[in-house]
Amino acid sequence: MHNSLMTSAQFPDELPAEDPQAIADALQRPLHDLRISVLDQCNFRCPYCMPEAEFHSDYAFLKRQQRLTYDEIVRVATAACKLGVSKIRLTGGEPLLDKNIAVLVERLAKLPGVDDLALTTNGVLLSAAAEKLAKAGLHRVTVSLDSVDEKVFRAMSGGRGDLAQVFAGIAAAEDAGLGPVKINVVVQKGVNDHTIIDLLRHFRGSGTIVRLIEFMDVGNRNGWRMNQVVPSRELLTKIQQQWPLRPVGRNYPGEVARRYEYVDGAGEIGFISSVTEPFCGDCSRARLSADGMLYTCLFANQGTDLRKSLRNGAVDDELQGILSSIWLQRADRYSELRSPELAEHHVLQKVEMYRMGG
Ligand code: SF4
Repeated sequence: MHNSLMTSAQFPDELPAEDPQAIADALQRPLHDLRISVLDQCNFRCPYCMPEAEFHSDYAFLKRQQRLTYDEIVRVATAACKLGVSKIRLTGGEPLLDKNIAVLVERLAKLPGVDDLALTTNGVLLSAAAEKLAKAGLHRVTVSLDSVDEKVFRAMSGGRGDLAQVFAGIAAAEDAGLGPVKINVVVQKGVNDHTIIDLLRHFRGSGTIVRLIEFMDVGNRNGWRMNQVVPSRELLTKIQQQWPLRPVGRNYPGEVARRYEYVDGAGEIGFISSVTEPFCGDCSRARLSADGMLYTCLFANQGTDLRKSLRNGAVDDELQGILSSIWLQRADRYSELRSPELAEHHVLQKVEMYRMGG
């Protein structure tokens, strides 16, 4: 069995056809996904995203009026759908801190062209919200969960989370029909890599899909070092020794995870390897921050202020024109060009991940 991750060239997928209407960027990548950060606040303090020391209780998060209204978010999403977006993901900070988010979900679910409406959460507020979100039209959820070891989980959530609440949230999402739930696990050497097998054992046979994510140099505050990255192929080898796996195709072009299934039928896992196996080649994602900045890469250091245009009376055609011109000029491929040395010194002053919703 290969121990390197099968690249798309080696594993032809029966992929659904690209949307011919979708506009393509300067590298011929169609606009397909829009990630919308509905607010910048979070109830966790994960050290690789929102370290407690910096994001203390007096930290000035965006005020209500600085954040886009639902009307404004729906206008941007409508324009983006006309340009090819068919997948929308709601993120944060922690999106479920917005008690009315089901109202936004309902409006986005009705947009023509949206065939995949998902939400990413840390899960502790999910058991109370799952039913309402499903009724509002949400299709599925992804839960960020870095370990099932109580001590490691607390260390990686900034001592804020409660593992039992996350498990209850996952179960509630499955019961509400928001599954198969995906679990995003950021793997950090010397932090949680020793607990990955236990996490996989916990979810094997449950239908829940685990995605193992290489630790990335997002933003400027997580102290990223190349030697803290566990290359996915190393992890694949370790897991294969426990449970044989075989590769499976992607669900659609631009899907970031390399998917595998347990040979014994216990389900699917995936690897998201932005550091050692970058996938910029068919990256089809745009990101909208809670204050209306549009970013064309997770590692962007600048964006376009759509809030200004929205609040200066831009009509829908103008908004669509702005989005279109941003995407047509897009040539981002940070992960392919990443220099670990530069990344370790945060030379680029990138936009923080919590601001653009991961
Ligand atoms: S680094 Fe940027 S361009 Fe590359 S896959 Fe990530 S978001 Fe897309």
